[in-house]
Amino acid sequence: MRIGVDIDGVLADHVRGILPRIEAKYGLRLNYEDLSAWRYAVGESDMLLEIMEAMEDPEWVTALPVYEGVAQGLAGLRELGRVSIVTARPEGAVQATLAWLEGNQLAFDEFIRCENADKPAQAIDVLVDDHLPNVCDFVVRGNGVGVLLDRPWNREGREGMAEPLGGGRLRVVKGVGETVALLGAAQLHGHGLRFS
Ligand SMILES: [Mg+2]
Repeated sequence: MRIGVDIDGVLADHVRGILPRIEAKYGLRLNYEDLSAWRYAVGESDMLLEIMEAMEDPEWVTALPVYEGVAQGLAGLRELGRVSIVTARPEGAVQATLAWLEGNQLAFDEFIRCENADKPAQAIDVLVDDHLPNVCDFVVRGNGVGVLLDRPWNREGREGMAEPLGGGRLRVVKGVGETVALLGAAQLHGHGLRFS
C-alpha cells in the first residue's frame, strides 16, 4: 500500500502556528475553531496567503507544533506500507520542513513536493489530507481511497461531496492514528483499494 500523507493540517498544526503571527500583524485574535474556511479572510488578506508568507520563514517552519499522536500514527502507517509525504509547501520551505520532520521524529519513506492539483497524479493508493478538494480530486481522478482529517476549515461542503464519492472510497477521521486502523481494515478489490 502506497500512502500519501499531507503535512499542513495533518501532521503540522499550521493553523495554531499562524494565529500568533496574525495577532501580531493585524491585532486580530482568532481561535482555531474560528477557522471555518480554507481561505478565511484576515483583513485584506486571508489565511492561505498568511501561511504561504510564513512558509518562507525557516524559523517559523521549524517551530510549528505537531498534532497529537502523529509520530506513532506515521509509524503505524509504515507498518502497512510505504509512506510518502506529499506537500504543496513552497520550494523555499523544503529544507526547514525536512528538519522539522526529523526534529519531531516523523519517519517517512519518500518526500514529494507538488502542487495541490498534482496530488492525484502521484503514485499513491491513499491520500491523507485536510483539504476537501484534494481528497475529492484524488478519489475522482484516480482509483485510490481518500482520508480527510476532520478540521474546522473543511466541514462546509462535505455533504455535497459524499454522494458522488460513495462506494467506500472516502472517509473522515479525527487523527492520523485513526487512519491506521481504517487502512489496516481496507481491502484490495479488483479495482483497487476499498474501505471495508
Ligand atoms: Mg494540508
